[in-house]
Amino acid sequence: MKIHKIVDRTFFGMKTNIYLIEAENPVLIDSGYKSGHKIISEIDKITGRLSAIVLTHNHPDHAGGAYKLSQKYECPVYIHELDLSSLRFPAEKIGNRIQLGDFEYLEVIPTPGHTSGGICLYDRKSKILFSGDTIFSNGNFGRFDLNGGSRVDLIESIRKLRKLDISTIYPGHDDVVIENAKENIEEAYKTLLALDS
Ligand SMILES: [Zn+2]
Ligand SMILES: [Zn+2]
Repeated sequence: MKIHKIVDRTFFGMKTNIYLIEAENPVLIDSGYKSGHKIISEIDKITGRLSAIVLTHNHPDHAGGAYKLSQKYECPVYIHELDLSSLRFPAEKIGNRIQLGDFEYLEVIPTPGHTSGGICLYDRKSKILFSGDTIFSNGNFGRFDLNGGSRVDLIESIRKLRKLDISTIYPGHDDVVIENAKENIEEAYKTLLALDS
């Protein structure tokens, strides 16, 4: 599989990362806020089609444009069931994996804390993690004070990530973590544990 990062400008000048996975079954991870011309032209240029759109969670900067893209590319939208009910458009419950081809797939790892239905996607073969708003570069992590968020859940989720063999992290915002992915997770974990609840 080949990963293409597309940066979407959402609201208040915020930028959200969208990832287009070029594979037998092309998959889009998150859709951005409105999924405007830039995103569509990137998809058209690279794969020209989508098999599925997978949302890491239900926040509008990640999920807002999903319906429009699902109509355009005639593909389903998948999200964890705990984040499904707050969406304003139809989507399907995600299972345990997203098939990218006959022998390639992403594992779905529930990582509540930022939202109750937040997920990460893991490619065990290449040790790649798509982390949504659970974990970012520089040892940063998603806020847990929004609706459905929980510090205790986030600690548990990051504890789960610590056990995985991860070499690259593709987060929902900011830079991709190419080096020291494990240290990055450790740093986030320690900072989170040290915070007053
Ligand atoms: Zn979020
Ligand atoms: Zn976000």
